[in-house]
Amino acid sequence: MSEWKTVIGLEVHAEMETESKMFSSCPVVDSVEAEPNSAVDALSLGMPGALPVINMQAMEYGIMVGLALNCEIPPINQFARKNYFYPDLPKGYQISQYDRPLAVNGHINIELEDGASKRVRVRRAHMEEDTGKLSHIMGGSLVDYNRAGVPLLEIVSEPDISSAEEAEAYARKLRSILRYLGVNSGDMSKGLLRFEANVSVLHKNDTKLRERTEIKNLNSIRNMGRAINFEAKRQIKIYREGGTVKPATLGWDEAAQKIMVQRYKERADEYRYFPEPDLPILEVSREKVAEIAAKLPALPDELKRRFVDELGLSSYDAGVITAERAVATYFQSIVDSGVEPKLAANWLTTDLFGLMNARDVERETIASIPVSADNFAGLLSLVQEGTINPSTARKKVLPEMWKSGKSARAIVDEGGLAQISDTSVIEASAEKVLAANDDMVQRYLGGNEKVLNALFGKIMGEMRGKGDPAIVREALLSRLENLKE
Ligand code: ADP
Ligand code: MG
Repeated sequence: MSEWKTVIGLEVHAEMETESKMFSSCPVVDSVEAEPNSAVDALSLGMPGALPVINMQAMEYGIMVGLALNCEIPPINQFARKNYFYPDLPKGYQISQYDRPLAVNGHINIELEDGASKRVRVRRAHMEEDTGKLSHIMGGSLVDYNRAGVPLLEIVSEPDISSAEEAEAYARKLRSILRYLGVNSGDMSKGLLRFEANVSVLHKNDTKLRERTEIKNLNSIRNMGRAINFEAKRQIKIYREGGTVKPATLGWDEAAQKIMVQRYKERADEYRYFPEPDLPILEVSREKVAEIAAKLPALPDELKRRFVDELGLSSYDAGVITAERAVATYFQSIVDSGVEPKLAANWLTTDLFGLMNARDVERETIASIPVSADNFAGLLSLVQEGTINPSTARKKVLPEMWKSGKSARAIVDEGGLAQISDTSVIEASAEKVLAANDDMVQRYLGGNEKVLNALFGKIMGEMRGKGDPAIVREALLSRLENLKE
C-alpha cells in the first residue's frame, strides 16, 4: 500500500437556513415535515418570465462562512447560469456562481487523532440555489419542489486531504463552524448539509495528480470515510491490473457498503455557464465585510485556544468541548460558577457524556438535558468542597439528577449522602471490617498488597459509600500498620 497515497478534495453543499428562498420571497420549509410542493412559487417551479431577486440575508450568511473559513471576500460577485436538464430543475438551469464567487483562498485547520494538526485549503465558496427532490418509488418518480431555490452554499476544498481520517476531520470541523455561525444546523439526514468526495490515488513516482472520481449520496461523515477507503482501494486495484480510472460520479450504497457507478461525468464546458442576465452584479463593499466580520461569534479554534491558555485544559479536552458550541457554552457556565476548570472538563467529558452516550443523546442538545448546567455546577461544587465524595457523586447523585431533574444538594440532603469525615465514625467502621475479615488481614500481613483495595472497598461499603476516601485509607493503613507490630 505504501507506494500509493490517497488524494481527496471535498465539495460541501450547505443550505443557508434563511426564512425565504435564494431568489424569491417563497418561504423555506422543513424538507421532511412539510407537505410536498406546499412551499413553491413561480420561480421555484421555473415559470417563464418569473424574475429572481437576490436574498441579501443568504449572501450575508455566505460571507460569514467565507470569513470563518479564512477566505478573501472579492469585491465583485456575479451569478451565472449552469445549464443542464434534470426533472428536479424545472428552469433547465441552476443559478449559481462561476468565475466570480463569494469567497476564495481560505483554509480550515483540522486536528488528527495523533494530536497533529493540518491546514486544508479552501479553494472557493459560492452561492447557488438548491434543486427539487426526486423520490423513486413503485417504478416511478415523484418530485418535491419545496427545496427548489433554497439558498445553497457550495464550499470547495483543494485536494489537500490525504486520508479518510483527514476527510472526516475536515467534515466535522466544517460542520462545527457552520453550527457555531448559526447558518446551518448540520443535519445530514435531512440533506441540509451534504458532502461529496473527489478521490484519486497517487503513485510515489507520479509528478501530477491522476484522474478522480466523485462520490455522492454520503449521508453521514462516517459513511464518507468508509466510501473513500473503498474507492481508493478500488482505484489502486485498477491501476495494478493495468487499467485506467475513468472520471465518474459514484454513489455509496450504504446497505451493501460499496460503491456504485451512477454516471460518467460532465465537464464544466458542458454546462455552458454564462452570466445570469436577470441579476445585477453585486458589489460587496469593504465596509460591509468589516461589519460582518465584527459580528462573527467566537469560533471553535479560538475558543479551544482560550480554554487551553486561560483555563489550563488539555488540548484534547478543549477540542472535545469546543467541537459543539452548546457544549462549550455549558462548560463555560460551569466554570463561571467557580468550579475548577479541569475538574469540570473531566466530569463533563467522562461522566456526563457517558450518561448522554448511554441514552443516545446528541451532544448538541446538551442545553436541554435533565441535568442543567447550574445543577451540574452544583454537583461539582459539592465534590470540590468535599461535601460528597466523588464516587457517591458519580454513582448515586448524578444518575438521580438525570432521572429527577433535581439539584444535587436536594438529592444529597434527602438521601443523607453527605460525605462522612468524622474520624471516630470511620475508625469504628474500619475496626468492624478488619475484625470480620481476618483472613484478608492475614494475607495482607503476609505480603499481599492487593488485598488493601479490597479492604478499602469493604469499609466504604460498610459506610454506604459515604466515607471520605482519604481519611478511610489513612485509618485502614494505620490500623494494618499497628497489626504488623
Ligand atoms: P471541476 O472544476 O471540474 O469541478 P475542480 O478542479 O474544481 O473540478 O475540483 C473539484 C473538486 O475536486 C475540488 O474539491 C478539488 O480539490 C478536487 N480535485 C481536483 N482534482 C483532484 C484529484 N486529482 N484528486 C482528488 N480530488 C481532486
Ligand atoms: Mg462541482
